Amino acid sequence: MRRPRFVDQGRAERWKREDEAPRLRELFPDLVALQLQTRERQHADSKGGVSCTRPIAVGSAGALFEVRCGNPKCDNPGHDITSWVIGALRRGETNFDGDDPCSGLVGQHECTRVLHFVVSATWRKADTLVAD
Ligand SMILES: [Zn+2]
Repeated sequence: MRRPRFVDQGRAERWKREDEAPRLRELFPDLVALQLQTRERQHADSKGGVSCTRPIAVGSAGALFEVRCGNPKCDNPGHDITSWVIGALRRGETNFDGDDPCSGLVGQHECTRVLHFVVSATWRKADTLVAD
């Protein structure tokens, strides 16, 4: 079978992994909406940075959260914040945030970028959630 020549392997791999990940809906049937906001700073102590907000399609999305490093020369395939997001959702949290320093390399040097992320979760009838 011939393979397409211009497939972005990283992206194809990512799609495959997202396909294989459990669905958010299966893990969290009471999750109504989820929004992920990220802001990337050049250094841990710098201000500002590029921010972006993306809603997650909780009805169809896989439980996989990866955010690419904003430095195009960085070799980090992506910040994998999946376990962090899933952990907070398991606790039934509605607003949570955190920092993830990039662990990639830019040439010979460690990447200095830091990803800050804010997650907002909307739950159906939060007051009737049963803790496990
Ligand atoms: Zn990086």
